[in-house]
Amino acid sequence: MIEPVLEDIKQYVYDQGTLEACGLLNVERGRVRWHPCENKSDHPYADFMIDPADYKKVSDRGDIVGVVHSHPQGSPEPSVVDRAACDRTGIPWYIFGKNDEWTKLEPKEETYDLVGRPFVFGVYDCFTIIKDYYETQGINIYPYEYSWEFWKDGKNLYVDNYEKEGFSIVTDGSLQKHDLIFMALNSDIANHAGIYVGRGRMLHHAPSRLSCRDTYVGMWKTITRLVVRHENYK
Ligand SMILES: [Zn+2]
Repeated sequence: MIEPVLEDIKQYVYDQGTLEACGLLNVERGRVRWHPCENKSDHPYADFMIDPADYKKVSDRGDIVGVVHSHPQGSPEPSVVDRAACDRTGIPWYIFGKNDEWTKLEPKEETYDLVGRPFVFGVYDCFTIIKDYYETQGINIYPYEYSWEFWKDGKNLYVDNYEKEGFSIVTDGSLQKHDLIFMALNSDIANHAGIYVGRGRMLHHAPSRLSCRDTYVGMWKTITRLVVRHENYK
């Protein structure tokens, strides 16, 4: 996931010299983005601190999926403090040592596993993120089988099955958290779906992008065909 921005990070780390470099990775419009942040530590040659205001600014633009910092003089091995802090943030940490060496540190419990997924059809795609999302809400959706471009074979996976999964059409034009949005992406059939997660955002996983929460405006609204709501939210 870090690969598209790896060279930019290495350059930034190099440019910071003996200062500990730091920054954040987020997902905007399905792409991972690198946001270098000023090191606000009182001892920026020995440790790092990211201003909570920077953290907020980046996360407002897209969910944060990684924390980056460097050990300019040494190896990229995580310190005890790094491990603890990584667990607390619940997202992976990337540590860069000298000579461009780097390591990825996984938190004990990932809390962002719905965001930043690579698109792998049948494993990580728009249906599996929906299934996984509702599972976290205690709603179990049947693991339907489907083939790539099922919509070209006249199949209508979403529209044919939402009723038996306990969803019904929202007819009053309202939109509330946990609503399921069906969209027709380069097709006449509603072949794509996302979940409205509130505050104008939709969690979804479009082909050849990373899963993310996109602002539900513009094209996404234009291609929307149906909004359905689960009986648990009525
Ligand atoms: Zn460290």
